[in-house]
Amino acid sequence: MKKVIIIGAGPAGLTAAYEISKSKEFSCVLIEKSKYVGGMARSVELLGQTVDIGPHRFFSNDTRVNKLWLEVVGKNYQMVDRLTRIFYKGKYFDYPLKPINAFLNLGIKETIFCLLSFFLVKLFPHKRPDTFEGWVTNRFGARLYSIFFKSYTEKLWGIPCENLTSEFAKQRIKNFSLGEAIIAAFNLGKKKHKTLVDQFAYPLFGNGFVYEKMKELYLENGGIIYFDKSIKEIYFDGLHYSINFDDVILKSEFLISSMPITSFLQIFKNSPESIINQSANLKFRNTLLIYVSLENVITFKDQWLYIQDENILSGRVTNFNNWVKTIKNNNGRTVLAFEYWCYDKDYIWNCEETELKKIVQNDLINGNFIKSLNNIVDYAFIKVPMCYPVYDKDYKDSLDNVIIYTKEFKNLHLIGRYGAFKYNNQDHSILMGLLTAKNIAGKEENDLWSINTDYEYHESSTITATGLVNN
Ligand SMILES: Cc1cc2nc3c(=O)[nH]c(=O)nc-3n(C[C@H](O)[C@H](O)[C@H](O)COP(=O)(O)OP(=O)(O)OC[C@H]3O[C@@H](n4cnc5c(N)ncnc54)[C@H](O)[C@@H]3O)c2cc1C
Repeated sequence: MKKVIIIGAGPAGLTAAYEISKSKEFSCVLIEKSKYVGGMARSVELLGQTVDIGPHRFFSNDTRVNKLWLEVVGKNYQMVDRLTRIFYKGKYFDYPLKPINAFLNLGIKETIFCLLSFFLVKLFPHKRPDTFEGWVTNRFGARLYSIFFKSYTEKLWGIPCENLTSEFAKQRIKNFSLGEAIIAAFNLGKKKHKTLVDQFAYPLFGNGFVYEKMKELYLENGGIIYFDKSIKEIYFDGLHYSINFDDVILKSEFLISSMPITSFLQIFKNSPESIINQSANLKFRNTLLIYVSLENVITFKDQWLYIQDENILSGRVTNFNNWVKTIKNNNGRTVLAFEYWCYDKDYIWNCEETELKKIVQNDLINGNFIKSLNNIVDYAFIKVPMCYPVYDKDYKDSLDNVIIYTKEFKNLHLIGRYGAFKYNNQDHSILMGLLTAKNIAGKEENDLWSINTDYEYHESSTITATGLVNN
């Protein structure tokens, strides 16, 4: 049997391992740094209920991904009616934007200013459409851009929108524009836009259930997992990869890595200095999640809110009471997760828990989510390092050089959100895992670097009887 070593048991690595373990031709060893599977997409028990790492909505228009998801989850899921609005100046705005709702919330004066600024940009387009600011302004006008996009985006990336490439916007907003929103509002166009997704599938026992179940199936197929392992060195001698951890050296013909691409290159002893230096331009942003358990409060009905309000430091708030009944607690409390995005050096990443409590207390009060601090029962904190690849101005050239370099290595597959430096959702990482398995089996020759760039993201695809599309 040929051996495949897979680094990282998140959606990408675990899917690859599971798929390969179905074949009799290969033996699989999965090496995971933490004590659990699911990576950023895992679920955790805290504050008396099951929660995810921020909101985790599964959706895909890819038949292969949906088929695998259903194979693993079975009937243990429910379709959830999506409600995820923008919170701005104490008001809730529909997302994607709906002109009538926006008009009622903004008032007549502000709406006129927004329309004028939209028409102005049609006459005099922003000169830098290659930046996030220019790209969004050209579609919505400067005023709507500053109300609905600027604050959230700058909180997320930590850089001014004029220095962020338009790639993030192209990927997530697609061709949506104010013009298209108006057409949709008056039902003038038959086709709904891609980002108008109404429902999503959610496992009954939390998003991480998918990966717990996948782990079980993988082990039943004879796969091996090492948890809590820190890899020291990787080396390729032309035939085999040697992976060194805990003074054990494992050898394999195939290597799949879903650990951060930058960390991989540092321990990959074949990497020349020049490539390690190039990879230093690939930066990641961290997420700090503060969970609060609240008593006697009526909070919002949304699964999560995007926070555009500048008086609130958090960029997104998830309410775990609004997903499925089966993850709800029985103690009548509400668990919210506040997300704060930061770099390693930032104060919030390094400060004490007492300071973090003050930060979230301010956000709860400023957002009017609670009447008094007495409503807070308890807190919990989760740090997720390196979870957003930053598409700044320098990243593309450096990534291209890293791709060219790593392609020279036979049977080496770099996949996943930080493994391939791609702003993946879990479905993209699952697809990368699936296609890697097919490449290794010699059945297909997929270009994994193209996933999530030329991969169509039809959020508006029609939902079928299974609740998922294209099945
Ligand atoms: C706050 C937040 C909200 C999100 N919301 C959604 C959503 O609504 N819908 C959606 O589809 N996706 C969402 N995502 C994205 C989703 O979580 C990721 O796309 C998915 O988890 C990526 O899977 P992955 O396997 O590529 O990476 P990961 O999930 O990061 O898994 C990588 C694994 O590698 C392990 N690892 C790292 N270094 C090493 C090492 N040196 N050795 C061994 N193992 C290592 C890690 O411990 C981890 O288990 C969200 C992410 C975040 C952070």
